[in-house]
Amino acid sequence: MACENNERLLPAYFDGELDVVRSIEFEEHLKTCPQCAEDLSDLQAMRSSVQSANLYKRAPESLRSRIRAALPAEARPQPIPMPRRRTFEWLAVAAAILIAVVLGAKMLPNIGSEKQNLIAEEIVASHIRSLQPGHLYDVESTDQHTVKPWFDGKLDFAPPVINLADQGFPLIGGRLDYVGHRNVAALVYQRQKHFINVFVWPEDSKPAEMPQVQAIQGYNLVFWSHNGMYFCAASDLNLAELRQFTQLLER
Ligand SMILES: [Zn+2]
Repeated sequence: MACENNERLLPAYFDGELDVVRSIEFEEHLKTCPQCAEDLSDLQAMRSSVQSANLYKRAPESLRSRIRAALPAEARPQPIPMPRRRTFEWLAVAAAILIAVVLGAKMLPNIGSEKQNLIAEEIVASHIRSLQPGHLYDVESTDQHTVKPWFDGKLDFAPPVINLADQGFPLIGGRLDYVGHRNVAALVYQRQKHFINVFVWPEDSKPAEMPQVQAIQGYNLVFWSHNGMYFCAASDLNLAELRQFTQLLER
């Protein structure tokens, strides 16, 4: 004889549609009704085999288009701009780039802050301008005792001026220049056919973190500070000789 629960309650129990009280009642019934128990077991077996059968197939694009076209506009699924997983991948790439940039900035002395780079670019522009005819110096002299006093009264500091003619870097003059929103001294030296501008200003207005070496537009810049002054040498001279020159100045 067929159990009346079999058709009525078993499918609902299997689909989890019974409330708690009726679920418990049906479970009590299962203990005494082999038919319901067996049918439930069959249903569970069938469900697990369907789930493991990998029956899912992606609809071909032509079918998807036809279905989409057949739907009223408001019922059509909206395209998703970027899948979540890809967004995450882009975030991971962005994070990796950020880390690389931060590490790179810490490891490479050539990469300075924005302010340093602005000053470096100003210095290169001044250097290039000074190479125009008649712009290299306001005072032309190889004598440091002529060049140094020339700055008196023109600046609010006294730049150190030494001649390095004996070491192959003769002083040839000096001029006033303007870098980083202040007047600076520009000392002009020569190495064979190369001119070297040394920009000097008090250290209290130097950038917080000094770059050491920069190369901009084919010009080498060497920065240093010494005895309360901030220096930048700019030239198209090769970096090795320019560093040799700046080390002589630092003595
Ligand atoms: Zn039953």
